[in-house]
Amino acid sequence: MTHCLNCGAERDADICESCGLSTAAAEFSIRRSLLNRTAVFLLGGIAFVAASGRYPALELDPILIFIGLLFFLTLGLGMIVERRILKHQEVEVLKRLYYGLIPVPWLLALVLFGNGAFDSSKPQIEPARVIGKFAMMGPVPSRRLIVSSWREDHHLERVPVDRGDFDRFTSGDVVDVQVHGGLIGIPWVSGVSRQ
Ligand SMILES: [Zn+2]
Repeated sequence: MTHCLNCGAERDADICESCGLSTAAAEFSIRRSLLNRTAVFLLGGIAFVAASGRYPALELDPILIFIGLLFFLTLGLGMIVERRILKHQEVEVLKRLYYGLIPVPWLLALVLFGNGAFDSSKPQIEPARVIGKFAMMGPVPSRRLIVSSWREDHHLERVPVDRGDFDRFTSGDVVDVQVHGGLIGIPWVSGVSRQ
C-alpha cells in the first residue's frame, strides 16, 4: 500500500481510485507541481531581498543568516522529495513539509515590508561614530557601516546603507543614524547623514 503521488490517497492498484491517474501520470504531475512551487519559493526569496533592501532592519545580519539557512534547508528538502519520487518511495509527509515551507519567504518579505511601509513614526536620530565599513558583492550585495552603538547592551552596530552612503562616509566620521521603531517592533534604518 502506497500513497498516490498526485492526490495523496492510498492506492493499491496502478490506477488511483481517487483521482484516476496512473502511477506514471501521477509522477509526472507531482514533479511539475514541485517545479512550480519551487519557482514560487525562489520568487519569494527575491521578494524578501527586495523588502530587506527597501526597509533594512537594524538587525539585518541575523535575519539574513536565518533566512539563508531556511532557504538551503528547504531547497535540500525539495531535492530529497524529487529523488524519492524517482526511486518510487513514499513522499507524502516530506512533500507536505516542503509545500508548507514554500510561502515562508513571502511571509517574511511581507513582515519586513509592512514593518517599514506602514510605519509612520518619526525617526529617532542616533549619533554614532563610524569605526569601519564592510561590503559584500554578489547576487545580494550588502553594505554596512560599522558604527559605535547607542544602545546600552550593544558595543557596535552594523548599519545597512545604500551605495551612496557607503561611499560617502569613512572611519572617524560622526554621523546621525535615522532609526524607526517599526510597525511591529522591528527597528529599521531609513538613512545616515553627516552630523
Ligand atoms: Zn490519486
